[in-house]
This record gives sequence, C-alpha cells and structure tokens, in this order.
Amino acid sequence: MIQVFQYPHETLLQTSIAWTDADAIQGYDDKEKFESDMIKLMLDERGMGLAANQIGITKRFFAIGHDSFDTFQKHAIIWNPQVINSSEEKVIDVEGCLSFKNVFVKVERPKIIEVQYETTQGKTRFAKLDGMESKCFQHELDHLDGITFNKRVSKLRWQMANKG
Ligand SMILES: [Zn+2]
Repeated sequence: MIQVFQYPHETLLQTSIAWTDADAIQGYDDKEKFESDMIKLMLDERGMGLAANQIGITKRFFAIGHDSFDTFQKHAIIWNPQVINSSEEKVIDVEGCLSFKNVFVKVERPKIIEVQYETTQGKTRFAKLDGMESKCFQHELDHLDGITFNKRVSKLRWQMANKG
C-alpha cells in the first residue's frame, strides 16, 4: 500500500533521479495498477498533484490533474518532467501540500511555463501551462529536487502560515 509521507520524511529532502524503462515500482508487477493507485491516493487526499518522493520513491515522476486544468484535465502520471522555459512575469498564489497537513501559504512563481515530459507509453510531450496548472507543475517538480514549499517563502511568511 502506498501512503503520503509527512514533512520532514527523508525522501522529501532528497533529489530524485530520472525514471528509466528498466525501473520497476517495488510491490507492483503492473505499472498501470500502480498508476491508478497513485492517482486514487491523490484524489482521496484531495490533491491536484502528488510527487513520487511524497510516497517514498525517489524517481522523477508525479501525478497531476484537476477538472479546471487545460492540459492535465484528465489525471495522469507524468515521467521525467522538465521546465524548458518560464515567463519573467511572476504570480503569487496560495499553495497547499499533501505532506504538510493544513498549511496554506502564498508562494511566488513564474506565471507561464513551457514543459517537457514523458507519457506512460514513453512518448515525449510538450505543453504550455498557465494559472493553477502551472503552479501545480512547478510545486511537484520542486518536490523531485527535494525542495518543499516552505523553502520557497520567507521565514516570516512561513511562521504566519503555521499560526493557522
Ligand atoms: Zn507538495
């Protein structure tokens, strides 16, 4: 059974390595079964993104999806994601994280990003993301680099957010 680990679980602090075709998920023979379990876990926890290292796997992939999104309207696992371009324009918006229960904090990030990733079938895809979808992708990609959202805000802002 997979579960979401809470900060500061050790895998949340680690930089994940690329996913390759030779890789397997421990406890799963079937990649599709794993994918549906990971997406179900994200939805059960009411998330719009869930990074592999949040469930203890330090490989570069994450689940993403929300009805309001344009590219990832349908929930998907995306593999080896990268940002290849980001706008100079930045936006500040509230974020939550499944590894930090009940903490919501405003984080500044580039507004628009151009991304590259691989599908489950191994196809390379490109997309341009804006709004909440862009923010979510950047938040999840940060996870894969061991960067949790508390590291993206000032100490003061973080303390205020934790006062509830
Ligand atoms: Zn998170």
